Amino acid sequence: MKNRQYVMIPGPTPVHQDIQYEMGRETAAFKDPAFIQDFKDVIRDLKELLKTDGEVFVVAGTGTMAMEMAVSNILQKDHPVLLISHGFFGDRFIEISSRKKYDLCTLSSPWGETVDLDLIEKELNKREYKALIVTHVDTSTGTRAPIKEIGSLVKDKETLFVVDGVCATGAEVEDMKDMGIDLLFTASQKAFGVPPGLAMVWASPEAMKRRESFDEIPEYYIDFHQWLPIMHNPDLYFGTPPVNLIWALKASIELMKEEGLDERYARHERDARAIQAAIEELGFPILAEEGCRSVTLTNPIYPEGIDDGEFRSIPAEEGVIVAGGLGDYAGKLFRLGHMGHIDRHIIVATLAAIERTLYRVGGEVSFGRGVGTYLAHRMEER
Ligand SMILES: *Cc1c(COP(=O)(O)O)cnc(C)c1O
Repeated sequence: MKNRQYVMIPGPTPVHQDIQYEMGRETAAFKDPAFIQDFKDVIRDLKELLKTDGEVFVVAGTGTMAMEMAVSNILQKDHPVLLISHGFFGDRFIEISSRKKYDLCTLSSPWGETVDLDLIEKELNKREYKALIVTHVDTSTGTRAPIKEIGSLVKDKETLFVVDGVCATGAEVEDMKDMGIDLLFTASQKAFGVPPGLAMVWASPEAMKRRESFDEIPEYYIDFHQWLPIMHNPDLYFGTPPVNLIWALKASIELMKEEGLDERYARHERDARAIQAAIEELGFPILAEEGCRSVTLTNPIYPEGIDDGEFRSIPAEEGVIVAGGLGDYAGKLFRLGHMGHIDRHIIVATLAAIERTLYRVGGEVSFGRGVGTYLAHRMEER
């Protein structure tokens, strides 16, 4: 019999039944009063979840569009910008900046590490940066940036703090007010566990003020000023809202409220640490250093002699999908997502599939070792 399929990649992530149901519903007119109410609820809840007095924009598009939307509304040509890059997605801002001709300074870390806070502080004291950009979790490396500490470095400055939360928001602790975040964004298919297609961008009052200080911006679809009236009153029209995705997002938010955001964060932390212990027990070094590992994904490096293509095709046959490495780590590691709506059954099944795979590629395995390590860690609470 064919196994059920688990998509254990860093997005899209497994979709909960309540969310699947919303995707399959007959689409309503976007002027449908019930839909308008649902959209209003989503906007209200999203602001509450991330704790901002500012705005949130819920717009059809991917995380990459959200990256561009965030910077386009607060930065202009020649603006000095400081980018802290911890991998592939951080580096994507270099490409965006080069097209938009920002005056960019990049501080990069080796993959698996984070940039020293001292270095960031020193650089910030050199010039008046218009924005500081950092990726909360870089999906290429599985590292988590200390965003609270980084945010405190620009607290009393004009510098707006931009956080790419695409692989973090809804799983890693984020609080816009407490952490001084001015722009935060994510996409539906990561820790929110909704199918791909929806971007969310939060903007603090300071970020909105910066936007207001510009007249028109060259970008049309991603201009905050086009969408702001709709976010205040979804009865208005600018571009057709993705009705089913917004319903699906509402279902995801309901699940978050039911679980409680703090408990959701704590669950991710507990599961991630237990999964990481299991992965190490199975003989895989983890790319991210111990002090900066994310709770949303783990990037296990292959022991000598394991072929990436072969290794990933076996769990795929069995119904567990993991992702390959990016950049210099293509072929050298796999990426295992563990964010959003995953439960213990999915995790145990995934670790067991990894054990069987190790066996099938001829590795040393004592069956149950990874699963046992995970269970032992998770049962400590009793
Ligand atoms: C996935 C991801 C993106 C890009 O999102 P898309 O929806 O694929 O465009 C950007 N940043 C981070 C950190 C990501 O994990």
